[in-house]
Amino acid sequence: MGNTRNKKLLFLGLSLSFLALVGYGLYSWQQSHADTSRQISYTTFIQKVSAGNIAKVRIVGDEITAHAKNGEKFNLFLPAGAYLGDLLIAKKVDFSSTPPSGGPNWFEIGFLVAVGIFLFVILRRFTGMGRSRARVVDYSESTTRFSDVAGAEEAKAELLDTVEFLKDPEKFSTLGGKMPTGVLLVGPPGTGKTLIARAVAGEADVPFFSISGSEFVEMYVGVGASRVRDLFAQAKKAAPCIVFIDEIDAVGRKRDAAAGGGASDERDQTLNQLLVEMDGFEVNSGIVVLAATNRPEILDAALLRSGRFDRQVTVGSPDIRGREAILKVHAKNVPLHDAVDLLVIARGTPGFSGADLANVVNEAAILAARSNKGVVEMIDFDLAKDKVLMGAEKKSMVLSDKLKLSTAYHEAGHVLVAKLTPDADPVHKVTIIPRGRAMGVTVQIPEDDIYCYTKEMLVAHLKVLMGGRAAEELIYSTTTTGAGNDLARATDTARRMVSEWGMSRAFGPVAFGHNENTDNGGKKGFSDVTAREMDNEIRSIVSGCYQGVVTLLQENMDALERLTRELVVKETLDAGEIDSILGFGDDNSSDPVSAAA
Ligand code: ADP
Ligand code: ZN
Repeated sequence: MGNTRNKKLLFLGLSLSFLALVGYGLYSWQQSHADTSRQISYTTFIQKVSAGNIAKVRIVGDEITAHAKNGEKFNLFLPAGAYLGDLLIAKKVDFSSTPPSGGPNWFEIGFLVAVGIFLFVILRRFTGMGRSRARVVDYSESTTRFSDVAGAEEAKAELLDTVEFLKDPEKFSTLGGKMPTGVLLVGPPGTGKTLIARAVAGEADVPFFSISGSEFVEMYVGVGASRVRDLFAQAKKAAPCIVFIDEIDAVGRKRDAAAGGGASDERDQTLNQLLVEMDGFEVNSGIVVLAATNRPEILDAALLRSGRFDRQVTVGSPDIRGREAILKVHAKNVPLHDAVDLLVIARGTPGFSGADLANVVNEAAILAARSNKGVVEMIDFDLAKDKVLMGAEKKSMVLSDKLKLSTAYHEAGHVLVAKLTPDADPVHKVTIIPRGRAMGVTVQIPEDDIYCYTKEMLVAHLKVLMGGRAAEELIYSTTTTGAGNDLARATDTARRMVSEWGMSRAFGPVAFGHNENTDNGGKKGFSDVTAREMDNEIRSIVSGCYQGVVTLLQENMDALERLTRELVVKETLDAGEIDSILGFGDDNSSDPVSAAA
């Protein structure tokens, strides 16, 4: 019960701080922009002053508010080094200037919003606030067929007998066969696990019940377990049928012995109920439970025991043929220009999941429709590919010039390190247009599908991640919060190099596994001393890379400045533009699509 109470308190506390932040942000925004003034360029402003249209000017820090004689108001920033005094005096403009008020500016508001978003996300994670509770169990007749699932031939083949069984459970019983009741679909997000589960139901023409593991986690004690009970009660009435549990790792993760070992936790009760239900099936009762996860290794061993999820079907990321097939399925009803070659698109989208590819086709069709074309052309696919790669653009978010410049230095740092490090992925594109929570993005695409990384490739990856922060530190002698995600990812990579892939000099080729990955009742697979040594090793890898990157950038300050200047002007640079600015080509290769924010 304590758990629920804590959640409530946490929810309350976080809600309050979130509201306070949003309130403060709005208030300060209102304070500084309560008027109806318009943003104009410095040049326009000078023209207006020269023309004698301006009556009054107020300068606070580098922010100018100009009052025109006709009552209009304008806002702009004073460019660094510009001096206005003489002109204003000559034109008899009433003006005054004060140092920065210390009041909020865009940078601050941006930061507040970021903190707000961060808190909001945490809030959602811990409490499930804002999610619908009503839709926990989904029931539907599935019209999906195996022909809708492209690629994934092995997975489909492995599930054929499940379809046969569902079509006629009696037949299996009389023949003495025993069907597995639980099948685990294992693979990364967006690879079509849900789609396949639906297709099994569709092919067998049986009802499809679905439920998501993550929705249980946020429920109050007892609710999750009773939902599971209801679900299976319904399923039994509808049998033969499919029960699909998405994200089963959210409820089915190894029970935590360290947390007191009691079954008091909501998740444990839900998991227990699930185990009880699966054990309670009569032989060949006609219910097949399909569950999806990307992390079978963290599942509680009890779930994988015979009679439960004792069968695994892998649904991998699509290779080039798979990608072409997926594109074909989704382009089935889209009119394509004769020159469109889906194989070429497939070749250019390594690392894309089925969901990403479905998105590419959809975006391409939207782009073509927007420009009133009757057919979708190759160029639409190219643009769509970039869009999906980089996430939705947020052009509307205004950047202050200062923030824009520091973002440009940050991204230029990533790009330059990528260009100067032999084993780094080729840079595809860089932008300082904000996307999601990132102020800018550097996108690298490998030339091929790569299934295995060398230590050099990983080190190169680490260095590219750190290029952003290193550039900021070199230029401003300080760092911003913008590099937080880069560092987290770099540290994570370094940790895995040491603990999973045996790539550290100090430890040699040993795999330690992580805490949740062990099957010995929650104990770590290594001692505390080892853990400390591992931390040291990780720290030394990270800081070693960082020092290397700082030196590399120092030696190429020129190139960094040039890239930054162009980025500020053009905001987005593609591979060709980057090469011509730097005056060299790119001849290195890679790991799956990675984007450093
Ligand atoms: P997962 O459950 O593995 O996260 P989904 O089944 O939800 O992935 O896939 C999301 C969408 O992506 C599907 O609805 C479909 O449009 C598309 N998709 C994914 N994989 C494939 C595939 N192999 N063939 C066709 N479409 C696919
Ligand atoms: Zn970055």
